[in-house]
Amino acid sequence: MHMPDEVDESDCCGNGCTNCILDNRPAPSQRALLAGKRNVIENYARFRLLSNEAMNGDAQVRILHFGHTLTEDADDDDDSILDIPPGHHIMLRAELAGHAVLRPYSPYWTDFVGKQFKIVVKLRAGGPMSDYLATLQPMQVLQFRGPIGNYAHDASRAKCIFIIAQGVAIAPTLPLVAEVLDNEDDMCCIRHLICAQDLQHVYFRDRLLDFAQYWNYNHCLYLAHQRCAFCADGCDESCEQLRKSLRYRETVHTGRLDANRLASHRPVSSSNAAAAAPIVIISGHSSFQQAMRETAASVLAVPDEHIFLL
Ligand SMILES: Cc1cc2nc3c(=O)[nH]c(=O)nc-3n(C[C@H](O)[C@H](O)[C@H](O)COP(=O)(O)OP(=O)(O)OC[C@H]3O[C@@H](n4cnc5c(N)ncnc54)[C@H](O)[C@@H]3O)c2cc1C
Repeated sequence: MHMPDEVDESDCCGNGCTNCILDNRPAPSQRALLAGKRNVIENYARFRLLSNEAMNGDAQVRILHFGHTLTEDADDDDDSILDIPPGHHIMLRAELAGHAVLRPYSPYWTDFVGKQFKIVVKLRAGGPMSDYLATLQPMQVLQFRGPIGNYAHDASRAKCIFIIAQGVAIAPTLPLVAEVLDNEDDMCCIRHLICAQDLQHVYFRDRLLDFAQYWNYNHCLYLAHQRCAFCADGCDESCEQLRKSLRYRETVHTGRLDANRLASHRPVSSSNAAAAAPIVIISGHSSFQQAMRETAASVLAVPDEHIFLL
């Protein structure tokens, strides 16, 4: 069995992740230490698939819900919890065609005491892990290890936090938002900028509307390829069909999030949050993360150490 901070080359998935496990070793959980318990996922642990549902009616996007399970001969394990802090991912290891395949996934919901978590997975055509997950049956057992990452929220300093998410990668940004909004002493303001191909591919809209009831949160949708039955070349913001599909408090722009649009979100008020250097968190494919990082660094004047790629 590995110690939590023991990793070697074979623990890396080889996909060039920004937060590679070799540089971000799973660390002992502070919350677990405080509770006098062990974080069950610090070493590869067994999790049973509890449910597998399509998201927004798209069979290629799955919500997978897992619960910790012991080996048949193990005793009850009351001395452990599951801690996956917001902004961290976990590694799935599966034996496929005779070799170990590793892929990172980012939970968007975790039950600390019940030792359960949920991930949203977009199945990629021809991808080995996607092919495996597509055939997964309820009650099947998989192995996960983590948490891996380097983001830690500092609630003591008011600031503006830009969270820029692409497609399904909105999922792991939800706990980051909740962490701020659930703490009424936290004076940080969140600008949640969501990039999707069209409205159908914006996930967790209900959750975003719940967040929008808080004074320190707003979100804006950027739809790169929105097209209704009447707009052959794609909808623009005046499209009646698009407007009718929006809900109260939803702000939408057609086209991509670019430098000018990002600049329009610069805080203008004289509050403490607006005066402090902002934080930028970017969740999405690595090419999206790199492009957004450069844009944010130039238009928001954010120092490099304030930009976090999930
Ligand atoms: C830190 C981190 C967290 C991640 N969290 C999640 C998650 O919560 N949910 C999830 O579905 N995936 C997540 N991924 C991606 C995931 O690890 C796998 O890459 C993905 O499931 C495909 O695995 P695969 O073996 O089926 O295909 P692969 O062989 O890995 O990839 C198949 C093809 O899909 C492309 N591809 C892979 N991922 C993406 C992407 N995000 N956007 C566009 N093209 C892509 C690859 O470039 C390749 O061409 C995460 C990746 C990282 C680095």
